[in-house]
Amino acid sequence: MRIGTDLDGVLADFPSTFLEQYINPALESRNQKTITTDDIKHWEFEKSIPLNPMVTDTLYRKAIAEGIFRFLPTYHNGLVTLLQELDLRGHTIYYITSRDQGTSEDTYEWLNSTKLPFSGGVYFTKNKARVCELLGIDIMLEDLYEQANEIADKTEASVLLIKRPWNTEMYSPYTMSMRTKITNSPATDLENLVLGPRCDF
Ligand SMILES: [Mg+2]
Repeated sequence: MRIGTDLDGVLADFPSTFLEQYINPALESRNQKTITTDDIKHWEFEKSIPLNPMVTDTLYRKAIAEGIFRFLPTYHNGLVTLLQELDLRGHTIYYITSRDQGTSEDTYEWLNSTKLPFSGGVYFTKNKARVCELLGIDIMLEDLYEQANEIADKTEASVLLIKRPWNTEMYSPYTMSMRTKITNSPATDLENLVLGPRCDF
């Protein structure tokens, strides 16, 4: 199968790293209360961060210039190990990210350091649905609600939407695609989609 996955918020824990290293020090220096990822209710960070949006944007650019994408921790949700296993079984893993192309060197370095499989390559795009369609993606992993539904609506892919604080307030039966599945256990759900439920007898 062709498995597509987003990076930030799915495999790479950008949000907590950005908060800890850039946003919270700025809040502390202004005598403001620090925040956690639970406070991030919109993926557009500036809507959840109690700083002037221009300050948040400047910190975001600074983080990228300082190579934040090289050093992000992976989430401990079993996905890295599962993707390695699926790659060994002959499935192809594609990384489809809305990061700017300019971050490619840091992104490749990060992928090497995490030992994530590299079979399908990395795609930097603002139109993920189109890329998923062109690549013939069967299953896509996403953390952005609108993005997940757009991919499910416009392509043949089934989409696993990983539950995060910035998408939980968005769920609605009126806006959610039939082929989007919200998950708290992405590794289990992905494994079931690709390999079928395990049979122990
Ligand atoms: Mg994401």
